[in-house]
Formats: sequence, structure tokens, C-alpha cells
Amino acid sequence: MITAQNKTEDLIAKDRKYLWHHLVPYNEAVPPTVVVEAEGSWVTDSNGKKYLDGMSGLWCVNVGYGREELAQAAYDQLKTMPYFPLAQSHLPAIQLAEKLNEWLEGEYVIFFSNSGSDANETAFKIARQYHQQNGEPSRYKFVSRYRAYHGNSMGALAATGQAVRKYKYEPLAPGFVHVRPPDSYRRPAGQSIEEFNLQCAQSIEDTIIWEGKETVAGVIMEPAITGGGIIVPHPIYMEKVQEVCNKHGVLLIIDEVICGFGRTGKKFGHMHFNMKPDIITMAKGLTSGYLPLSATAVRKDIYETFKTSEEYGYFRHVNTFGGTPAACALALKNLEIMERENLVERAHILGERLRAEMVELLDHPSVGDIRSFGFLLGIELVEDKVTKDPAAAKVGKVIAECKANGLIVGRNGDTVAGYNNVIALSPPLSATDEDVDFIIGTLKNAIRNLQ
Ligand code: PMP
Repeated sequence: MITAQNKTEDLIAKDRKYLWHHLVPYNEAVPPTVVVEAEGSWVTDSNGKKYLDGMSGLWCVNVGYGREELAQAAYDQLKTMPYFPLAQSHLPAIQLAEKLNEWLEGEYVIFFSNSGSDANETAFKIARQYHQQNGEPSRYKFVSRYRAYHGNSMGALAATGQAVRKYKYEPLAPGFVHVRPPDSYRRPAGQSIEEFNLQCAQSIEDTIIWEGKETVAGVIMEPAITGGGIIVPHPIYMEKVQEVCNKHGVLLIIDEVICGFGRTGKKFGHMHFNMKPDIITMAKGLTSGYLPLSATAVRKDIYETFKTSEEYGYFRHVNTFGGTPAACALALKNLEIMERENLVERAHILGERLRAEMVELLDHPSVGDIRSFGFLLGIELVEDKVTKDPAAAKVGKVIAECKANGLIVGRNGDTVAGYNNVIALSPPLSATDEDVDFIIGTLKNAIRNLQ
């Protein structure tokens, strides 16, 4: 372990010379935190300071850090058989695909890739080809929501509904249209949550009709918008979306990249609603972030049309590292741990506790809204509770104070709209009761200390 101060300075100097950080712009005044060790819900930086990781890395370390069993599963598989492409097959991929069917509680065929973005790109290609071989080749568009994030590649970014992430890289893939998300906190005055949610779902149907339903291949959405501000729909919304997709022959793609694998207190987020998605994409919690792996689960009857179509029938899509044996073996062990330790139920219990404690903050003048979905929590800070002006700078203060006191929390929203004002929490599902006490105490203090 690296603890000496001069060592940290060395590391940071080299970091600044050689490493291009993801997402966060270069900032001379704020050096990166170099993490050197991790155990349970805690990470340790190069100065020996410990932080509770309230974001599970990037919403992914569901079983927590330091799981020897996961390292062992990958090691054993790397020794036995490290690589073989999935144009043919291998044992860990078969076993994991079978296991995922159990978790999905339905019949799905699984296409493995490397990242959440990949999984969504795969879903778009499958949806387009499906319609082509079903005699509806004009269906190519996807309906998505503003504020959603679906990935960094040209198609997945096109599906994303946050202008700030997109405008420097446009033109992106064509064929993506966006509708208003069911952000009930910012619904028009006088409207009930149910009415507003129904209206948002209706706007999906209207868009399909206005675009020409014969041009629409699919609707993509997360069970709750996560990165765009923890926007949790009323069930009425999701049920209407399902009905609209069925009615217009549009495939429903559910992005479970964050909401999957217990995060929301059910195995998958869509299981909170009466839904039967056609395609489900997943990544992050599948391996708890220990190795890259993602999956696109396709309803069996859709896959069947790829087997039987004479003209097409050939899904011409491959990625070298999708479903490597060690990643699949590790994912199987990860799911075994979640089952053995009842982490899905635990996420529900911890999430309820966190919510019950944090809603006390609603009496604070800067706390506009508190939203939760299992062990995911968003706290929206505002300058004024009537105007709801976003208080993004206050979020920065809370994050800095939490960090100084050893707690990592996230920030999300949509910066162009000025809504980058949501504090996000997505701790490991394996968090102990003491961990949760620490999160509650530290975050509450930081918010109460806001002027
Ligand atoms: N979908 C959602 C909902 C996500 O949150 C993310 C990543 N945060 C992605 C897709 C893309 O995943 P990746 O970063 O693994 O490409």
C-alpha cells in the first residue's frame, strides 16, 4: 500500500502527464483521488484516507469490494481456458446465459458484449433487423426520453437525451427521437402525479403516430432514469408504455444497466411494473464491475425469427471480447454471492431505511425533492422551493463536505437544462448497517450545514 505523501505526489504528477480522465475536466486545483485498496463498501486512497463509496464506483460494485471468490473464479477460468470467441461456444457463457434466464424469470437468448453502450448498440441492431425480416423494413427509429443516458457510442449517445453530452460530437446516429421524461417533481402546477405520468406516456404514443408507426422500431428506457437525476416513474406510466408498444408493434427495450441485479430491490427494475420487455440490456452489476461484461437479452420468440428467416436470419454482429470466459465465470460467482447473501432483498431493506431517514431533510429550505428506487436515492437541491431553481453549486458543496468526511456521493442531472442539481447515492448492496448509519449521518450533516 502506498501511504507516503511524496509517493502520492509522484503518482499525481504521472497521472497528470499520462492519463486522460473519464468525464471530469482537467482541474489543476483539484488533484485526482488515487485509490489503491478497497474492501467492503470502503476504498482507501494513496494517502491512506478511507472513503465509503456511496456510488459503488460507477453504480456497479453491487457485491462490494474485496471479494476473493470473484478473483478466484476469474483466475481458475483464466488457467483452464482464457479465451475462445462466441462465434462458437464455451462453458461459462452457456452457464451464465442459463443463469440469466433464471434471474430474468422468462425465456431469453443472451448476446454478450463488453459495456452498457455495446449492449444498447446490439439491441438497436437486433430491433432493426427483426423488423426487416418480419416484412417491416421501414421501421428504424427509436423513441427515447430527454435526460436519459444510454451510453457513449454514436448510437447509444444518440439515444441519450442530455444535450450537454452530445453537442460536441454531432452528428450522431440518425433515427432517435426524444420525449419528455416523467419527472413528477417538475410537473405542471395543478396536475396530479398520475395525470402527468399518463400524459408523458401518451406523448410516446403520439410521437410514434406522428413519426409514422411504420417507421418506429423501438422504445428504449430505463426502469427509472438514473444518471439523468433519479427520475422514478409512477407505475401507471410504465404500464401505459408497455400497452403503447404492444399496440403499435414497437419493440420495448429496457436498459437495466444500472437498475439490474438488485439495485432497485428486485432482480431487475422493470419487475416493479407489469411489463414484458422484448429486449433487456445489462452490464455494471452483472460482474459488480470486477471485469467488463454486458449482455443483451432478447425474448426467445424474437430470436426464433432470426433462426427461421431465410432471407436475413444472420445477425452479423460480433465483438472480440464480449463474453470472455473469465468475465462469465466471474459473473456466475457474482450472482451466486447475491443469491447466497440475499442482496436483492437487502437492497430493498436498506433502501427503505435510507429513504425513511433522508426524507426528514425535506424540511430543509434547499431540499426540493427526495426520490428513491430500492437502494438508489436522489436528493434534488433547489434555491427556492416555489420556483424550484436548481441549486447546482450547493450540490458541489455537499459533495466536497461529504468527501472531506470520508463519503463519496454522486451528482447527476442534465447540465444544459441547469438541472445538475441532484445528489445521487447508489451504495454497494452488501453495505453493513454501520455503513448505512455512516452514509445517513454524514450526508445529513453536509446538507444541514448548507446556508
Ligand atoms: N445505460 C445506462 C443506463 C448507463 O447508466 C450507462 C453507464 N453509466 C450505460 C448505459 C453505458 O454503459 P457503459 O459505460 O458500460 O458503456
